[in-house]
Amino acid sequence: MQTTEAFVGLECLDCGGSFDAADEPGRCPDCGGILDPTYDYDALDPSRNSFASDAIRAGRAGIWRYESLLPFPREAALTLDEGGTPLVDCPRLAAELGVGRVLIKDEGRNPTGSFKDRGAAVAVSAAAQHGATDVALSSAGNAGQAASAYAARAGMESHVFVPSRASFVNKAMINVHGGDMYVVEGQIGDAVEAYEDVMAERDDYYSLQTFVTPYRHEGKKTMYYELIEQLQWETPDAVVYPTGGGVGLVGMHKAARELRELGLVDELPPLYAAQSEGCAPIVEAFEEGRDEHEPWEYPDTICGGIEIPDPGASRFVLEAVRESGGGAVATDDQDVMDAAATVALHEGLEMGVSCAAAASGAWELARTGEFDEDDTIVLLNTGAGNKDADLIRSRLMAKGM
Ligand SMILES: [Zn+2]
Repeated sequence: MQTTEAFVGLECLDCGGSFDAADEPGRCPDCGGILDPTYDYDALDPSRNSFASDAIRAGRAGIWRYESLLPFPREAALTLDEGGTPLVDCPRLAAELGVGRVLIKDEGRNPTGSFKDRGAAVAVSAAAQHGATDVALSSAGNAGQAASAYAARAGMESHVFVPSRASFVNKAMINVHGGDMYVVEGQIGDAVEAYEDVMAERDDYYSLQTFVTPYRHEGKKTMYYELIEQLQWETPDAVVYPTGGGVGLVGMHKAARELRELGLVDELPPLYAAQSEGCAPIVEAFEEGRDEHEPWEYPDTICGGIEIPDPGASRFVLEAVRESGGGAVATDDQDVMDAAATVALHEGLEMGVSCAAAASGAWELARTGEFDEDDTIVLLNTGAGNKDADLIRSRLMAKGM
């Protein structure tokens, strides 16, 4: 395998066992736990200026600027120049929330229109190094679209299991990228079951499933490297993240801890998990002081991207939220859609419907006095609003607008 200098291998978050990445483990071979890429941080000695500057001088944009803290070097990567997304100042929202600044990290500007591209780039790069010919995953939509795009670029077959409710754009583009798509009646849990049934028969399919591959959260951690550089190394007072599986939140928390380990920052950013009231197992567990979620029995939300009733990594999401001094907040679907429309109307920025749970969550946190008047609040817009244009517009029409 072609790996970066400081990359050591994979460590189990449950039993602490260490494994060689070349052996191609998915989950921990000993206990089934989640594997996490590890690095020899002592071998790296970056300053804030040099953190990514060699890459910048070489004209490299996007996530591979941070290759020293990724498992694979840029020359071994399957990339569509993902990442490098803007942090957009939203002064009207700041005034409305009564805080100093609101900034939206606009992940909609990635190659396939969502932050899933960051994870797909690293995970498909791993698949390529392992000689995979076929990749497979279940997805609410955006991750499937991203995986089919990167598989196309790698010359691999992709097998994507999506629930019937996945957006038209997701399904159409999985087709366009040549993906082998299974549209499963029902919700995400049904798509996961269909995926598992097929995987049981196919040992030649390389899994890109969340937290089966150790590399999706690893790709997503780059959101925080970018964010802190864009804020000139000032730690934000809150980062509000639309949370389903919570992969990006776990990744960002890891990134912040790495930067602290490297001596580049002193503080961790308070991370807030924002969910829809129709499916809020993380918020419920947070409020009840539990370490793990209980599966949400009847998930029912318009926010398909974050409708994850049984998030397998909830322990790590809750740990990140608590260790960083953040929190968890749920709002209802009407508020979420109104938030998407308000951001589009007041700031011109197009948020996806699921992503707008971060905006309505921020309003709710402001209402309950969680923020101070000079706070800097970052909202993650994890996917492009135009993928959900029909939903946002029908909400306006229902209100007679
Ligand atoms: Zn283990």
